[in-house]
Amino acid sequence: MLKLDSKLSEVPRIGKKYGPILEKLGLQTIEDFLLHFPFRYEDYSERILISDLTANTTATVMGEVMQSKLVRTWKKKMMITECYVSDGSAMVRAVWFNQPYVSDSLTKGKGVRLSGKVSKDIKGLFFSNPAWELSSREPTNTGRLVPIYPETEGLTSRFIRWQMQTLVGFADKMEDPIPENILRGLHLPNLSQALKQIHFPKSVQEYEAAQKRFSFQQMYLVQIASQMVKMDWDKQNAVKIIFDEGFIKKFVASLPFPLTNAQRKAAFQIFLDMEKDFPMNRLLNGDVGSGKTVVAAMAALAASHTKFQSAIMAPTEVLARQHFESMLKLFAGQKINIALLTNSYQIIKVIGHQSSVIKKQNSKDDRLLMTDDKKSTSKKLLRNELLSKLKSGEINILIGTHALIQEAVKFKNLALVIVDEQHRFGVAQRAYLQQKIEQINDGIPGKIPHLLSMTATPIPRTLTLAFFGNLNLSVLNEMPKNRKQIITEIIRTTGRQKTYDFIRNEIKNGRQAFIIFPLVEESKVLTELKAATEEHKRLSEKVFPDLKLGLLHGKMKSTEKETAMQDFKDRKYDILVATSVVEVGIDIPNASVIIIEDADRFGLSQLHQFRGRVGRGEHQSYCFLFTSSSTIKSKERLGAMVKFTSGFDIAEEDFKLRGPGEFFGNRQSGIPDEAMKHITNVKLIEIANDYARETLSESPDLKKFPLLKKQLQKFQQKVHLE
Ligand code: ADP
Ligand code: MG
Repeated sequence: MLKLDSKLSEVPRIGKKYGPILEKLGLQTIEDFLLHFPFRYEDYSERILISDLTANTTATVMGEVMQSKLVRTWKKKMMITECYVSDGSAMVRAVWFNQPYVSDSLTKGKGVRLSGKVSKDIKGLFFSNPAWELSSREPTNTGRLVPIYPETEGLTSRFIRWQMQTLVGFADKMEDPIPENILRGLHLPNLSQALKQIHFPKSVQEYEAAQKRFSFQQMYLVQIASQMVKMDWDKQNAVKIIFDEGFIKKFVASLPFPLTNAQRKAAFQIFLDMEKDFPMNRLLNGDVGSGKTVVAAMAALAASHTKFQSAIMAPTEVLARQHFESMLKLFAGQKINIALLTNSYQIIKVIGHQSSVIKKQNSKDDRLLMTDDKKSTSKKLLRNELLSKLKSGEINILIGTHALIQEAVKFKNLALVIVDEQHRFGVAQRAYLQQKIEQINDGIPGKIPHLLSMTATPIPRTLTLAFFGNLNLSVLNEMPKNRKQIITEIIRTTGRQKTYDFIRNEIKNGRQAFIIFPLVEESKVLTELKAATEEHKRLSEKVFPDLKLGLLHGKMKSTEKETAMQDFKDRKYDILVATSVVEVGIDIPNASVIIIEDADRFGLSQLHQFRGRVGRGEHQSYCFLFTSSSTIKSKERLGAMVKFTSGFDIAEEDFKLRGPGEFFGNRQSGIPDEAMKHITNVKLIEIANDYARETLSESPDLKKFPLLKKQLQKFQQKVHLE
């Protein structure tokens, strides 16, 4: 007997043939299958008379097959089924291409329902490849709101509908994780109702209600998950880092620039958080170039001033090294020991101290120990030395990649962790990071470090609750005053050559340039490699034979990518040709031009991230958006890039134009598809947040709601934690 958790391959008509295909979609059991939702509906609900058909409309008719034949066209080697259907009012033709089996079913005299597009040719009106089914059958594919499922190779929507029709009854066996009183309060259908309505809605209202229910469910789970993490986090203890105002003021005065008001405010919020005896959990959200690094530096400095250690983590080695170098500059004159620890670099630098702490024989600078050579013995020695200085507390600030919290790195008294470019801001990803930080060997028993994360991905204001509902947020919404505006231009085909000449001229003046191009099909490994290599070849041979061009693409190993970035930074190339993998956050002050090929293919927020790669030095910078499209939509989109300079404005615009699903890939946001559909429904999110609180205050560990707890575990497994 089939059960809810029976494997799909055990279902008679699915079997060994279709089971594996469904498995590829992540569907293993009958329950999974029921949770595979249509992504849209075709409205075939209204049946009309054949005599009322008009060309270029979508319609449903019902009638009797008067004649049916299978024709083979020799020229194109195509099989065409041609069928005449009459309902008494008139007769209409229907044709199917390469579906010979249709003529087996639709024999003369059969009653049939047809739904689809009506076209017209010299022979009159006809249906082309319509959905069809025998009128003796329950309307599934025609004559109703027909669910359209995401299709995969070897599996049609028609097939899924057919199976769903027989399996949807299992919905009654599924238990609802949402407490009944909540559903009642919100007038939402219960689980089994909602499942039936989402697959076979009798009206638009029915599927909308079902979608709303599932959106609410996901939002509610998201909010519960993040509340639980927050409750857990807030229960922990942290060391107080006392804010020494005079000391910080002196540091600020030593900077080569005045802080922006936004930077001041953010720093102040951070200092207040760190004075508490429970750990800070704050997100610093600021556009590219808004100056997050110096804010982070102030926090780390405050910690080291009270004799506590800090760790700063970046997603890549290049960025870690960049931070190390910026910190060296910012802290010149401070009595601070900074170290950089990644797989390739182990560097300890002592700034400001008179007596050198570490000596290395034959080293030119006896206060600097550095190795990025391949000699593993010295590397290992230095690594050990660094780790021991970390444990003894001589190193105040440790900078590195995310590996810092995964490795056997032991601190003496780590009180602050800063995570840069934390663009995976999904609730689940954050929870994972927090867990990792709780496990870090910080050397202070019973306490966990304060956490500051930073991201340059602006989020539309309307979404902050969904993502940051339980988080303290500081926003740098103001750019440093000295910043030159990046000049952005849209370039159509005719302007190409002029732009290339312009780049050559910039390079002649000592600048560097990025050329970014999109991939047509990013998923295909070979295609990316080929496309990237070809583009690089075309540009270096045909366009810039006189210049040095580097290449960066997603199929390179991460060490290769790092080398390409570093080489570009070291001016070994004039131009870096890159796919969209070009590093977020990399600072190449000498780069003054960026070209984005086929700019239409990128989202606005992504374009803004690319644009942020230039304009980071004192040079006037330019961003050229290449496009061959002249549609109004493209003009509107790319026009927004010219009009807006703030990432927040662009995010808002992007979100408006593209909708939430595409705005962040699902995995990046950690917000499931169903919830995405209603993510702009701030009200629904607020309600979900309220109910989540209520549920948890009733049962903090969800013991009273076992189904909900189970659902939550499933949900947390599903959202990838990387
Ligand atoms: P991001 O927020 O993208 O990480 P950074 O911290 O890298 O930005 O800062 C970008 C550049 O701006 C750096 O060179 C930094 O020294 C400089 N900067 C930061 N704050 C200010 C300021 N208030 N005035 C002028 N320049 C600043
Ligand atoms: Mg940065």
